Amino acid sequence: MERREARGGTLVLGGGFGGLQCARKLARKEVDVLLVDRNNYHLFTPLLYQVASSLLNPSEISFPLRHILRRRKNVRVRRAEVARIDFHAQRAITVEGHAFEYDWLVIATGAETNFYGIDSVEQASFGLKDLPDGMALRNHVLDCFEAALLETDPTARQGWLTFLVVGGGPTGVEYAGALCELFRLVLPADFPDLDVHRSSVILVEALDRLLYEFPAQLGEYTKEALEQRGVEVRLGTRVTGVDGDSAVRLADGSVLSARTLIWAAGVRPVAPATEPPLPRTRQGRIEVDGSLLVRGQERVFAIGDAAAMLDDGKPLAMMAPQAMQAGRHVAAQILRASRGLPLEPFRYRDKGVMATIGRSAGVAAVGPLRLKGFIGWIAWLVIHLYFLIGFRNRFVVLSRWTYNYFRLDRPIRLIASSAPSKRRRTVSSSSP
Ligand SMILES: Cc1cc2nc3c(=O)[nH]c(=O)nc-3n(C[C@H](O)[C@H](O)[C@H](O)COP(=O)(O)OP(=O)(O)OC[C@H]3O[C@@H](n4cnc5c(N)ncnc54)[C@H](O)[C@@H]3O)c2cc1C
Repeated sequence: MERREARGGTLVLGGGFGGLQCARKLARKEVDVLLVDRNNYHLFTPLLYQVASSLLNPSEISFPLRHILRRRKNVRVRRAEVARIDFHAQRAITVEGHAFEYDWLVIATGAETNFYGIDSVEQASFGLKDLPDGMALRNHVLDCFEAALLETDPTARQGWLTFLVVGGGPTGVEYAGALCELFRLVLPADFPDLDVHRSSVILVEALDRLLYEFPAQLGEYTKEALEQRGVEVRLGTRVTGVDGDSAVRLADGSVLSARTLIWAAGVRPVAPATEPPLPRTRQGRIEVDGSLLVRGQERVFAIGDAAAMLDDGKPLAMMAPQAMQAGRHVAAQILRASRGLPLEPFRYRDKGVMATIGRSAGVAAVGPLRLKGFIGWIAWLVIHLYFLIGFRNRFVVLSRWTYNYFRLDRPIRLIASSAPSKRRRTVSSSSP
């Protein structure tokens, strides 16, 4: 039975980078705003890998939406998962049957991990997309060392100590670097009776270089820097499947034995079912026009990862600055429309790309500027600290980074789960 929350105004679906910017920009303006998210917090995904590698606590990279918006009287928040949207009735319906009515709708529901239809990989691997993913991965990685300690068979023990990261984009690179740091600098003291240095991190990328969105020279530098830190980088091959509970198959014919497969090889857009169905591109992103209105709809915008936002005819990358700029643009259009003004086209201002590799090593490309090494790392730290929400979070994260830098420590080494980790795949190694 459908329960209605009768209220017009603007309904923003998703409190991620795009949706939150939109709601903030509409705050204290002459419109009613309802922000709906299935979580009650905003997640700062760029630092998720630091939760998964024992450096940060979940609460330091996420912030309650109600707190962020508490002084914005015209903005209300609901924690709910929207299951479907009826465009004719201008209504979004939650999985529990609650209905939110709208005059304007902004779809900002983001993306989910894409396993490209490889079921065996989906079942066997860990994603790194949301907070539960990050915490599950941290628990599992630490648990692997506990299991290795109890393992008497040397081959089986090596399986516990082998970590396969799939995807050479920023997430894969950053996590592979962070794991090496954890294994090399921190865990040996925790496990004096285990040869922790036998642990290995393998990064697999289907393309012929890392960080494909970055200039080639920075991709090459990243590969060298990771290898110096002990990561084995395998380019030009991809994971094709996982055989039962055993080995990970690669396209080049080799079989790697690893109990841990971390999937950072791609995401796909996600949005509730709609009536009529949303127009989609081949990649599944929602088709929008120049002002970010969903094609065929006059009162529905789509932004961020979920939408195929174009820049000079090419789809924009699924990244936070793109979503944030789109959120602000759409808010401005809703205000313009409420004043009877025509909509303006969306223009993306390229802010560049950056990634960190590990201690004192990062890469950044901003306009013609290319930064790498220590200076690239500092640029990464400053920008990420700046965009992190909340003074407390910035303060705590900066303290943790400083502590980690000088004490070589990653202090959140808790296996915070009563259930044993998903222990997968047996161990046996073979080459083509
Ligand atoms: C691990 C990781 C690291 C990343 N690092 C970077 C980086 O360094 N730099 C960068 O620019 N980008 C990075 N990204 C990409 C960036 O996070 C995304 O591009 C950005 O979050 C997109 O913003 P969005 O608003 O479209 O979606 P999101 O920020 O994902 O927000 C979507 C929101 O919608 C909610 N939602 C989804 N479906 C529903 C529903 N049916 N009902 C209610 N709520 C729903 C979700 O809970 C979520 O809060 C990273 C992503 C990941 C996963």
